[in-house]
Amino acid sequence: MQAQEDIRLADLGEFGLIERIRARFPAPDGVTGIGDDCAVLTQHSGQESLVSTDMLVEGTHFLREDIPPFDLGWKSAAVNLSDIAAMGGKPTGTFLSLALPAGLPVAWIEAFLDGYAELSGRFDVPLLGGDTTASPDRICINVTVLGECPCGRSRLRSSAAVDDLICVTGPLGDSAAGLKSILEGVERDADVQALIDRHYRPMPRVAEGQELRLNLGVHAMMDLSDGIGSDLQHILDASEADAQIDRNAIPLSLALKRVCARRGWDPLALALGGGEDYELLFTCTRQAEMLICVPHFVIGRITKRSYSSSSAGADWRISGFDHFKKH
Ligand code: ADP
Ligand code: MG
Repeated sequence: MQAQEDIRLADLGEFGLIERIRARFPAPDGVTGIGDDCAVLTQHSGQESLVSTDMLVEGTHFLREDIPPFDLGWKSAAVNLSDIAAMGGKPTGTFLSLALPAGLPVAWIEAFLDGYAELSGRFDVPLLGGDTTASPDRICINVTVLGECPCGRSRLRSSAAVDDLICVTGPLGDSAAGLKSILEGVERDADVQALIDRHYRPMPRVAEGQELRLNLGVHAMMDLSDGIGSDLQHILDASEADAQIDRNAIPLSLALKRVCARRGWDPLALALGGGEDYELLFTCTRQAEMLICVPHFVIGRITKRSYSSSSAGADWRISGFDHFKKH
């Protein structure tokens, strides 16, 4: 018998792989998951459905030789749950579509599934289906996530109001500094490793998003995937408002400060311009803010859109990450 490490996807075939996935991800009671033409889910009354999808392409979003497959599986699930969290919703299931080269070791796929299962398990979100196909050489991962939220209660980007406070649920810039450390081959002491962990294993703010949704004074909400410099712009454009951000109020982790001090990096540039922190960015009234128990930092406030600018106040704007812009 071949050792697990020697088996390639070509030996297993599409249906062999699907069977392995199905065996590992049993559907919860009352749900038809992997194995039929469609998953069948019960629609709960009074709830609206949330759906989001996200694609990760080798070479564009990750480097196979760099990211451990466990972390890639974790991150693939995490970034999708984060989109449901951003609406204040509860994730109810995911769909995983994989385009994989036939020569890929099955051990790699198993480690990927381990990470996917670990993150999904933490939030009790079942894998309900997907698609599997061959790719000539690059790995491509697409995850679709379903969620639910009481009707009319999901938080949109368009609901920020003038004088709202602008808040984030955690420190910014760690993920960008982690990525920079990887790309520059920085020696991995405990601080650097903490930053790299934040990049490879983001923690979606699922419970936080739902708790914030219960507070009716929390208005607009989104997750920080591209960097606050460009993500805040989305809230401002959707809400037709401007913002004042207090640079000194941007939360920075100790690990980020220490690594930046040692290497001469600008922590604020990483915090404002770097992506993939997956913290929540939300706006709320002053009264509502006093009632929020979720850890958060007030970093600024929403202002009236000035007639002279069609965009945000130039005094804070620092660009984030735009996939189609040249860097
Ligand atoms: P179809 O021919 O209808 O597309 P498939 O043979 O592709 O069906 O898939 C069979 C079952 O396995 C379906 O329930 C599908 O959702 C599930 N499935 C296929 N690929 C994956 C995957 N990568 N992860 C999870 N479920 C999958
Ligand atoms: Mg199929």
